[in-house]
Amino acid sequence: EYVLEMHHITKEFPGVKALDDVTLKVRPGTVHALMGENGAGKSTLMKCLFGIYTPDAGHIILDGEEVRFQSSRDALEKGISMIHQELHPVPYRNVMENIWLGRFPVKRLGPFPFIDEKKMVRDTEQLFADLKMDLGPYEIVKHLSVSKIQSLEIAKAVSYQSRVIVMDEPTSSLTGNEVEQLFAIIDELRSRGVAIIYISHKMEEILRISDEVTIMRDGRLIGTWEAKELTTDLIIARMVGRDLTQRFP
Ligand code: ADP
Ligand code: MG
Ligand code: MG
Repeated sequence: EYVLEMHHITKEFPGVKALDDVTLKVRPGTVHALMGENGAGKSTLMKCLFGIYTPDAGHIILDGEEVRFQSSRDALEKGISMIHQELHPVPYRNVMENIWLGRFPVKRLGPFPFIDEKKMVRDTEQLFADLKMDLGPYEIVKHLSVSKIQSLEIAKAVSYQSRVIVMDEPTSSLTGNEVEQLFAIIDELRSRGVAIIYISHKMEEILRISDEVTIMRDGRLIGTWEAKELTTDLIIARMVGRDLTQRFP
């Protein structure tokens, strides 16, 4: 039923309980929004997922099996990837190299002397066609828009057969048109059974794109709801802990 389960995750820093018994369960083929005010613990929870932090307590189950990632690289290889808010592809290389870079020793890259470049071009073009991305294998990353770099990172995640993709405020630098393109890509990922953990503060976006919404506050889980049960006012009330639409709380 769930592709990813994070159970009872607790993480303390000196003087701060950043996460206190947080459980997050994500279904395949859904967009799961993760919401909470600054300091709620969203990033810490994701860093626990990616092996950047070791939780003090709790466990993580991927496809029914307990996992312990040692690094985000380890997580990536096991099917969980992160599209960061700040993207850092290798600027002077082309799109195709950026997608496949790192799966071979770097010295083997260049004009790909040890691998079949034609096949790699075909695979890359097929990947872009499947994902409905307007991207060519030989485009130089340095010249790409933020939106295209993001597409490149998503294509890379898919090429790693990621089953869970975390997107951290993915629309923060996009134009309206680029947001629509991203949402079309997200719909495609969803139809392939990929789960997306979507971190954003933009209510309209959340209500439109997500299937489920988990709200955190002060390191605690407030709850998980189907997006269609929620409104902007309900989300805000649960994020801040009181109903702001009531004049006299
Ligand atoms: P969010 O991503 O929801 O804004 P964070 O996970 O970044 O929240 O932070 C949750 C709490 O943990 C905050 O109080 C923050 O100050 C604290 N915190 C996060 N990372 C660290 C750290 N490395 N050391 C100490 N405190 C931290
Ligand atoms: Mg954060
Ligand atoms: Mg941020």
